[in-house]
Amino acid sequence: MIEKSLVMLKPDAVQRGLVGEIITRFEKCGLKLIALKMVYANEKMAGEHYEDDEAWLKSVGEKTLKSYEKKGLKLDRTALEQGQVVRKMLMDFISMSPVVAMVIEGHNAIAHIRKIVGATAPSDAAPGTIRGDYAFDSYMLADDSNRPVQNLIHASDSKESAEREIKIWFKKEEIHAWERLDESLLYRKIKE
Ligand code: ADP
Repeated sequence: MIEKSLVMLKPDAVQRGLVGEIITRFEKCGLKLIALKMVYANEKMAGEHYEDDEAWLKSVGEKTLKSYEKKGLKLDRTALEQGQVVRKMLMDFISMSPVVAMVIEGHNAIAHIRKIVGATAPSDAAPGTIRGDYAFDSYMLADDSNRPVQNLIHASDSKESAEREIKIWFKKEEIHAWERLDESLLYRKIKE
């Protein structure tokens, strides 16, 4: 099942000089880069990427609520309200300086990339993942500083979001079909 995923290196990854380190992890595991560019996103693009979708806003807000609960604290906002606050901060954050957008392709690419990326909050992300190795931000630290969790990278979480997100960042002609040398090993059929 060959899939395409939209991967975006957020301003924290670009500003910390981690672009090469991150891309190399995808390349080295065999995934294929089929589109790549640096983009200075405007508010409109940022708002399309992090769309005003109630279910997603609630799931985002829920993460802060849960992290407060774990510490025995209570946030004076509903999950939806917190999600709306986070969305606005995210839109400002990803449009504050250039990001690097990519389309990455491969067998089961969407889930595989999410595994390499790690959990949303770097404080929960396993060592060996991008977020676990290069960041240590948490929901509480982010909330204290009025900013979104800085976790370096975005990667599509489903086929539907990948299709939607790729269209925001790339024109059709900016996505290239080509063959990696190792594909012939991966996908060749061995005759019995
Ligand atoms: P992911 O990027 O892991 O798919 P989400 O789609 O839930 O995670 O959230 C999008 C981004 O919003 C996250 O990568 C993170 O930067 C930020 N974020 C999510 N939830 C929160 C939160 N509760 N507080 C602050 N920032 C958040």
